[in-house]
Amino acid sequence: ARTLRIGLIPGDGIGKEVIPAGRKILEALPASLKLKFEFVDLKAGFETFEQTGAALPDKTVEILKNECDGALFGAVSSPSKAVKGYSSPIVALRKRLDLYANVRPVKSVMTAKNPIDMVIVRENTEDLYVKEEKTYEAADGSKIAEAIKRISEKASFRIATMAGEIALRRQKIRESGAPSIHKSPLVTITHKSNVLSQTDGLFRATAREALAASRFSSVGVEEQIVDSMVYKLFRQPETYDVIVAPNLYGDILSDGAAALVGSLGLVPSANVGEGFAIGEPCHGSAPDIMGKNIANPIATLRSVALMLEFLNEETAAAKIYAAVDGNLEEGRLLSPDLGGTATTTEVVEDILRRL
Ligand code: NAD
Ligand code: MN
Repeated sequence: ARTLRIGLIPGDGIGKEVIPAGRKILEALPASLKLKFEFVDLKAGFETFEQTGAALPDKTVEILKNECDGALFGAVSSPSKAVKGYSSPIVALRKRLDLYANVRPVKSVMTAKNPIDMVIVRENTEDLYVKEEKTYEAADGSKIAEAIKRISEKASFRIATMAGEIALRRQKIRESGAPSIHKSPLVTITHKSNVLSQTDGLFRATAREALAASRFSSVGVEEQIVDSMVYKLFRQPETYDVIVAPNLYGDILSDGAAALVGSLGLVPSANVGEGFAIGEPCHGSAPDIMGKNIANPIATLRSVALMLEFLNEETAAAKIYAAVDGNLEEGRLLSPDLGGTATTTEVVEDILRRL
């Protein structure tokens, strides 16, 4: 039996309602999987900031680094006006744990009228998000602001390699009988190298090189300019399998793609580094519905499965995905964001029953 130690960081708002559901589904996995879980409750978020002066206490980072195999992160509230000393704990966590990839699967149920099933693999450490900005004055006294867009061969190579691995893993899951709209693995490289020939040019060339490795010989590789990609993403989303993108394009594409499946409450993500993964629902702390027991727990439950995939527990992950799909396809116990009347508790119970 393998024991996995999982850090639980509920954060703010509905994070406190959905992360306990994530813990429940891990505890409910069938014993035949020979998996045990230990949980560590950890703090981060705006409430933590107000209580302790730090949105991400060092202790949280140290415990994750030294004691945990993976973690679940709920959501945090960011104040709409800048508050002195506060910055987003998830952004800091990605940095401090070198979680260099943000992985976001966007999938409808296969019984949908136009089913889609894609995953966006976003580079998470560089590009414009190195935040090297400056403002200065032009000769006429008006302001000019500039930012550095940094693309490295190393980061581009490892993110494209991860996209290739994910494409292979998805193919393996298909071959094991999971219903899918794709027949063979495909990675689409996103860039704008027709304009940014050096930065995006390097991303494109390096991604091509990484995906030319012999172990990816069964993976189809194509590329697309980011603006036409947005067009095609909305017109023919079903054509995409795995999309790999530099940080900024990946950020924008992944929120856009999430809109294709109807509710933020359905879309999971994972922040992934070497041997560590944090599952995180894509939605925020949803203050408008907090405390009412109506938050959709599915984004979190799928994030749990995604975390398990990156901890090499694909069978356990597949069980969770199938249980969630069962709930959605039957459509009897749905939360209000999907047009239903079920509570968070009822949705979780229905999904646990299907494990
Ligand atoms: P949000 O994702 O919290 O909510 C947007 C809308 O979607 C709301 O109407 C909400 O009720 C609904 N929604 C979100 N998750 C849902 C779920 N699981 N079930 C049902 N409905 C759900 O985004 P927002 O309102 O723009 O931001 C609220 C707070 O969350 C802000 O403080 C923001 O900074 C923060 N935020 C955090 C993250 C994160 O932690 N990664 C991401 C986005 C926003
Ligand atoms: Mn974003």
